[in-house]
Amino acid sequence: MLVAEDEESFVDALVLGLKREGFLVEVARDGAEALDKFDSVRPDLVLLDLMLPRVSGIDVCRSIRARSTVPIIIVTAKGAEIDTVVGLEVGADDYVTKPYRMRELVARMRAALRRAPRPDEAGDDRLEAIEVGEVRLDPSRHEVVVRGREVQLPLKEFELLELLLTNAGRVLTRDTLINQVWSPHYVGDTKTLDVHIKRLRTRIEIDPASPVLITTIRGLGYRYELARTTTRARSTADQAQGPG
Ligand code: CA
Repeated sequence: MLVAEDEESFVDALVLGLKREGFLVEVARDGAEALDKFDSVRPDLVLLDLMLPRVSGIDVCRSIRARSTVPIIIVTAKGAEIDTVVGLEVGADDYVTKPYRMRELVARMRAALRRAPRPDEAGDDRLEAIEVGEVRLDPSRHEVVVRGREVQLPLKEFELLELLLTNAGRVLTRDTLINQVWSPHYVGDTKTLDVHIKRLRTRIEIDPASPVLITTIRGLGYRYELARTTTRARSTADQAQGPG
């Protein structure tokens, strides 16, 4: 794994703790080094402090996500909620807030690794593609095609879409979505789900502000609509409730 962290007072203890947990750790002390090391080490997980010298953590996150589905956990300062939201929007899978406990961090990391596709599953052709209306998702190839065009989805959004498509026509509660895509012990706030739904809509909806594929079911959760929709279709329910 790759740890991008510049705080000297902090990084040695962090690395020691992670090694004790059995992780192979590479450290980058600034954003530029993080990108270099990402390419040379090919880590299976990235722990990314957002406050980094030279290249910001947000830019590092965006850049890694543009070329990899590796799980990225961002580290944000307490009270820097906006950083967390931006980090999730540019493709981070999860976040921890400083100061965090080692136990919490390791639990998040292990959960992220469990959810990540393993190389030996990459060619698993037992997993069948799911197609609902204009969206086709192929789990074995980690591929999503929307209206004939392939779209790149980070892991979390991919898993969320897979769950929604598999249950198309059914309401999935917020708890169900969080439990299945994150974990039953997820301790982050529920905004994370809304941010991911919003991102997913920007990738698959014709008009993300008036979603017709993934609709909001007020007070409950979300539903992937079975009916094939046209460009003019609008969900009055979503208009009334606002996005997400
Ligand atoms: Ca820092």
